[in-house]
Amino acid sequence: MVVGGGISGLSAAWFYRKALGPDVRVLVLDNHDDFGGHAKRNEFRHEGRTILAYGGTMSIETPFPYSHSSKALLADLGIVPSTYARYDRSAQVYAGLGQGAFFDKEHFGADRTVAGMNRRPWAEFFAAAPLTPAVRADLTRLYTEKVDYMPALAPEAKVAALQRMSYADFLLKHARLRPESLPWFAGMAFRNNMRVDTCPAYTAARGGRSPGFAGMALPHPIEAEAEHFHFPDGNASIARLLVNRLVPGVFGAAALDQETIVRAPADYAALDRPDNKTRVRLGSTAIRVEHLGTPTVLTEKAARVVYMQDGKPRSVTGANVILACFNNIIPHIVPELPEGQKAALRYPSKVPMQYTNVLLRDWKAWKALGVRSISAPNGYHTSASLDTAMAIGGYASAMDPAEPVVVHMVRNPNQPGLSRKDQNRAGRADMLATPFETIEREIRAQLQRMLGAGGFDARRDILAITVNRWPHGYAYTYDTLGDPDMPDAQRPHVIGRRPLGRIAIANADAGAAAFTNVAIDEAERAVQECLVSRGLT
Ligand SMILES: Cc1cc2nc3c(=O)[nH]c(=O)nc-3n(C[C@H](O)[C@H](O)[C@H](O)COP(=O)(O)OP(=O)(O)OC[C@H]3O[C@@H](n4cnc5c(N)ncnc54)[C@H](O)[C@@H]3O)c2cc1C
Repeated sequence: MVVGGGISGLSAAWFYRKALGPDVRVLVLDNHDDFGGHAKRNEFRHEGRTILAYGGTMSIETPFPYSHSSKALLADLGIVPSTYARYDRSAQVYAGLGQGAFFDKEHFGADRTVAGMNRRPWAEFFAAAPLTPAVRADLTRLYTEKVDYMPALAPEAKVAALQRMSYADFLLKHARLRPESLPWFAGMAFRNNMRVDTCPAYTAARGGRSPGFAGMALPHPIEAEAEHFHFPDGNASIARLLVNRLVPGVFGAAALDQETIVRAPADYAALDRPDNKTRVRLGSTAIRVEHLGTPTVLTEKAARVVYMQDGKPRSVTGANVILACFNNIIPHIVPELPEGQKAALRYPSKVPMQYTNVLLRDWKAWKALGVRSISAPNGYHTSASLDTAMAIGGYASAMDPAEPVVVHMVRNPNQPGLSRKDQNRAGRADMLATPFETIEREIRAQLQRMLGAGGFDARRDILAITVNRWPHGYAYTYDTLGDPDMPDAQRPHVIGRRPLGRIAIANADAGAAAFTNVAIDEAERAVQECLVSRGLT
């Protein structure tokens, strides 16, 4: 029994079946009306076409290398990251368009979208922005000068100091940025969505794109990406390929691959057929997970999962349970866990994230403004980007400015001044309390302000909106500002994921990193623990 039908839960089903053979029976329960968890597919239908978008997990990407097991899983699913260049047409389709920034009148004095960010010389870029002469000079200086702002410190001492101060403090106190220039950094999301006031300066430096570090001669290299592959629906394609391999009939009989999965329709009625060995049961929220008798006894009926379906409690028993759901909820559903482990599971606070997809009638205004993505430092959404242009498996996104296109907008509600975890909690509350009408109004106003100068008309050009709210988004990762320094073995996620008899714990939370490969690796570890619990290794 697997609680959670995200990438981790589906991978757990996959590894368990791999270990015990195709006849083993596996039931995956998920509270949502879809499988995939954060790896969520959005579909728009317009004039006979289905237009895809990603509602959560965007790509195979990570600063950590994919393990042998996660690479092998991708290969088994017919995904070959090295072939990605075949499908991504963005360089041709968006030739000449780049990144822009929207300066708003509330913070910068006038509304203006300025193209050429990261392309034009910074002096020229900021000269085109509605900034006061002092802020313009200040930002240009910061982006162009190569100064060691901590000349008295040896390299390792610099690293230690930068780990203990926020990027905002580094900018203001060491790089001597004017406070009036700080709004430019307000919308930036650093590693794992930390903000300028919660991101350690050293983490900002390692990201490689934050200004201020060019003359600091820091000893460690910039982090690089290990693998990259993006599907039009993001990593939902991985979840769909897993279901294709696990549950016969959902996607027909054939094993699909990285191309054929993209347009394949799913038969949701086939997810939970009694004659299938692996079943996925949606709309099923686990509320209690418990052992039946002594967990060490070798029995097939060792544990029970009680879940709610259609408002009624139901239960199912089996040899093992893997909790691939999310750490904060586990103490509530497994009361027999030791208190110390429950405290460890309560420790993280996931990042609230909103991925808004807007279908536009065309992208002529973007072309006219010379941008394919716009960062909006103080906007309701802090960025808006044209979808990656892709041709894969017979699916093609917009290749011409006259065609309908998906615009992907990101909002990360937070509350500057609080600790990172408290900002996550405040953002979550904001997200849950905001009605769709408010979000729609904000989207319309924001796109109009950003694109109006290019001829955009929100009333005419917006065809559809899908808002994906992830109050519990990215798995919590530790940072050198907000978390105590301790050996890995004592970290809450390591204590939290300890197995209890026949109950094992997966999910990206168990690896304290918000990445697909981590979700897969944690599934494999949990499966190994299940096998050990039954004396099967
Ligand atoms: C907006 C967003 C963008 C991301 N982008 C990327 C990216 O580009 N690349 C990348 O590698 N990673 C990305 N991630 C990280 C992503 O979380 C992981 O890659 C991975 O998808 C996590 O899978 P998971 O199975 O561990 O967790 P989830 O996807 O959270 O799956 C857990 C499932 O368990 C269900 N569940 C919870 N409680 C219960 C219960 N009591 N009963 C039944 N079911 C329950 C949940 O509803 C959910 O469906 C992104 C995350 C978010 C939120």
